[in-house]
This record gives sequence, structure tokens and C-alpha cells, in this order.
Amino acid sequence: MPGFELFGEQEKKQVQEVLDTGVLMRYGFDGMRKGQWKALELEKALAKRMQVEHAQLLNSGTSALTVALASAGVGAGDEVIMPTFTFVASFESILAIGAVPILVDVDDTLTLSPDAVERAITERTKVIMPVHMCGSMADLKALKFICDTHGLLLIEDACQAIGGTFEGKPLGSYGDLGCFSFDYVKTITCGEGGAVITNHEKYKINADRFSDHGHDHMGSDRGAETHPFLGYNYRISELNAAVGLAQIERLDEFLTIQRKNYTILREALASIPEVSFRRVPAGGEESYAFLNFFLPDEASAKKVHQALGNRGVDACFYWYDNNWHYYRKWEHLTNLKSLGKLPQEIYDQLPDYSKLDFSKSDHWVGRTISCLVKLGWSETDVHERAHKMAAVIKANI
Ligand SMILES: *Cc1c(COP(=O)(O)O)cnc(C)c1O
Repeated sequence: MPGFELFGEQEKKQVQEVLDTGVLMRYGFDGMRKGQWKALELEKALAKRMQVEHAQLLNSGTSALTVALASAGVGAGDEVIMPTFTFVASFESILAIGAVPILVDVDDTLTLSPDAVERAITERTKVIMPVHMCGSMADLKALKFICDTHGLLLIEDACQAIGGTFEGKPLGSYGDLGCFSFDYVKTITCGEGGAVITNHEKYKINADRFSDHGHDHMGSDRGAETHPFLGYNYRISELNAAVGLAQIERLDEFLTIQRKNYTILREALASIPEVSFRRVPAGGEESYAFLNFFLPDEASAKKVHQALGNRGVDACFYWYDNNWHYYRKWEHLTNLKSLGKLPQEIYDQLPDYSKLDFSKSDHWVGRTISCLVKLGWSETDVHERAHKMAAVIKANI
């Protein structure tokens, strides 16, 4: 997955062009910038690649989620449905705007279970926020149907699955808004960065203003701009955008490598009867950023994961015990350990997670191992790795 593995001349050239102008800010300074607008260019390139009308670049994927929610008018006390298996940014962004994270089970897609989502809807629900974890997607068709039936927004977190598709559409473009991260370890990186994509002009205008202190961005005198509503600063710098501009041009090259390496690993494991693979919803194609597979039970998954590590097969994750990605370790959320007081709605409405039953998520995540698919491996590396993985699995089940 990490695009940094293949940094080259393109990235250097883009960054140098920004340094040559000395303008590191994405807005204003029109006279000094010698025609360089890296953030703007990257937004155009991203919108084109993702087949949408609009893209808004931000300084992180977490910012992208926050800005997407804010741009769609989500606020204090609104409920946002999110999965038990995701990165902490999901609930961070929801809490940041005073909304309430409602955790919901995942199924054998390792993403939101549409049945569980349906059961979690209340009169306060405003958004369903699936997370396309580890290179593959939620059942967007089923979730969109639920959204249309109940008048809810669909906001896709495609941070770990850029380049995957559903029904021929790029992930992130299917819902009302889609979010990407370009942090240092993602498939394409800006160092730090993120983006919101949408076909709704209103959300784009809101995102552009909200992420820059509410500036209306009318005319060419920044000091004279008015503030139609309250905003914040989630801006990306031109230096970060420059790196991303080089990287997005290489996205398809990266995806081809991911797919090739993934296929070699998968084929090596496919003949082991105890191994099965994560379900990809009908109509979907993965980004191949990870190979995700199930072992028969929790005990064998733990054992195999340990053995893979011992044999030097790096970058394989057992999320069930992971500090970041699974609800079992989110005590700071479930106990609301914040520095200062949070909005009252959050105290009043946050479910008592100690009483909720996520055994359906445990059933799947407890037996899952996910292995990162790297870009920098040589063909020999991948074949050796595939061989080693198959041997370790067979010896430990
Ligand atoms: C990386 C990631 C984010 C957050 O991105 P940052 O740019 O690191 O803030 C959000 N969601 C998922 C699923 C991610 O993997």
C-alpha cells in the first residue's frame, strides 16, 4: 500500500516547483505564485480520476471526514452509524462536530453489516458512514437503499481502499460524499493530507469555506473576503499537495503492482482448505491494498499470526487485539475520556457500549489476518513470501 516506497523524481520536481515560487499557501498570493496552484491542480486531477464533479483537499483524512460531516450540515446530537472495525478517525471526526458515534457490527465483508445498520436506525440518525477497510468495500448498494428509504446521507470512508470500485464507480464516488487520506502510509501520500469528493456543489462550496475559517473565497483579495458561516482551519499546504500531485499520476501504476502482488499471495493460500477469504460484495473490485483471510477460529488465527511474525513475515495484522482498529480497545471512546467537557448531547446520547453485544463482529474479526500488500517488493520477494506464508499456515492449523 504505501506510495512512499516508490518516491522518485516526479515528487522532487513537484515540490521544487513550489519552493521556487516561495508560496507555500494554497490560497492567495496570486502575483507571486508564477502560475503554481498545486492544491487546486490536485483537486482537479482527483475529481477526474474519481469521476466526480468536485474534490476538496484537506490536511488529513481525519479532517476530510470531519469536513464531510460538517459540509453536509451534520451537528450536535445527530447520530452517525459507523463500524466496530475501523480506524479511530471515524469516531474522532463524529465527536469533533458534536455528533454521536453509533457503533454497528461488521460481517464477513469486514465492513458494516446492512442488517445491523437497519436495526440501529433511530429518529436521530443522520448518516451512515461505511469504512472500506483494508482494500475492500462495504455493500454500498444495500446501504444506499437503506439511506434512500430513511432519508439518510451516505458518507464513504475510502481511506484504505483508494482505487477500488463498486458497480464500476470508484470507491468514494458512490455515496453523497467520499473521503480519502493521503497520510504517510496510504496508497498515495502527501506526507499528510486528505480529500473529500462529491457531486453536490453545495457540499463542495461548504467544504471549501468551512476548511478555511469560513472564507467565502470570492474575488482575489483575501483580506476583503466575508465569512458566511463559522469555519475552522483544515487547509493543506502547497508542499504537501505537490507530493500528492506526483503520486496521483502514479495511482494506476501502484494499483497494478498491488493487484499483481496480491494475486501471487492469494493463489499460494487458496489451496489450504482451512483458509477462506474475506467476502467482496457483488459488483465490487478491491484495491488490493491488503490480503485478508479467515482461519477456522480465534485460536488458530492468533497462533498463525504469531508464527508469521516469528518467521519474519512482516506487516501482517491481527486486528482483534489491535490497539487502534477494533472497538475492544476503544476505552477512551466508550468511557468518554476527553481533556475538557464534550457537548452535552454526547454524554446524553452515547450508548452504553459495555452493554452492547458485538459478538457478530468478534466472530469475523477474531479469525481475520490482514497482510499489507507492498509496492516495493521484487517478484522474488513476493514468491518467497507467498511460499513462507503457506508453509507457516499449514504448520499451525
Ligand atoms: C488513515 C485513515 C483515516 C485517517 O487519515 P489520516 O490522514 O491519518 O488522518 C481515516 N480512516 C481510515 C479507514 C484510515 O485508514
